[in-house]
Amino acid sequence: MNWMQPKGLPLVSSVESSAASSLTVAQAASWAQALGLPRLDAQVLLLHALGRAPHERAWLLTHGDDPLDASVQATFADHAQRRLNTEPVAYITGHKEFFGLMLHIDKRVLDPRADTETLVEWTLSCLADVAQPELLDLGTGSGAIALALKHARSDATVSAVDASADALAVATLNAERLALPVDFHHGTWLAPLHGRAFDAIVSNPPYVASNDAHLADLLHEPLSALTSGADGLDDIRTIVRDATRHLKPNGWLLLEHGHDQAQAVQTLLGNQGFVNVQSRPDLAGILRCSGGQWTTVK
Ligand code: GLN
Repeated sequence: MNWMQPKGLPLVSSVESSAASSLTVAQAASWAQALGLPRLDAQVLLLHALGRAPHERAWLLTHGDDPLDASVQATFADHAQRRLNTEPVAYITGHKEFFGLMLHIDKRVLDPRADTETLVEWTLSCLADVAQPELLDLGTGSGAIALALKHARSDATVSAVDASADALAVATLNAERLALPVDFHHGTWLAPLHGRAFDAIVSNPPYVASNDAHLADLLHEPLSALTSGADGLDDIRTIVRDATRHLKPNGWLLLEHGHDQAQAVQTLLGNQGFVNVQSRPDLAGILRCSGGQWTTVK
């Protein structure tokens, strides 16, 4: 989190009273930023309150002097307050763009991070020479990874698993809206895929240690999508162990993990017998994904 909530400000009442008279578009954006919202969040929330799309930020600049309707102003004040209370923008607006796809997002699923696009790109590059690949996304949540893969590779057969029926309802809705066929399964990791083998198994599993202080910033997201035992690696250990029975020869297992877990995940993969074990950085340059290839020929 790179911003702080200012303590003790009468947030909503200040905007309502300072503007029983109305604020202009530019004044509303400045008000929210003065309270500590990043400029981009303030702009996206203001556009949402105005019923405009998140990519219309230029509109805010060209209409800076327009007065805000009282109901728009009240909605914006409420949404800005929710964001200041660390609720993800995506839960407030109900959507998030991931790998060029507009996804419906709500509190039933993890808010997809741009860093996870790294995992999609890496998966696609591993599959460049594989025709009609069979792919599996474990812990699909909103369906972000599975849908991005299917969108980029229409020749692929994409399956996805989640233990949360709530999450699968969101993922299914997104697949329908985007008209991207994905085969969804309810269950624990590889359990629903008995007898199936894939060219790539991909996952952004829970990986935060259960006592990590960073969880205080993630209070609005499902804990089951975030934490995984004392060192955060319980689910990754299960996936690394069980994926071996579900990979075709030379198939890839590619995992997102925590900022300090690359070495541990590489070791797990190596000890399990994966080859070509390697990691990839996220947008901040931190090794955020690790993976390897499964070959029965050693
Ligand atoms: N990337 C998220 C965070 O730490 C965690 C997501 C996860 O556990 N898969 O902010």
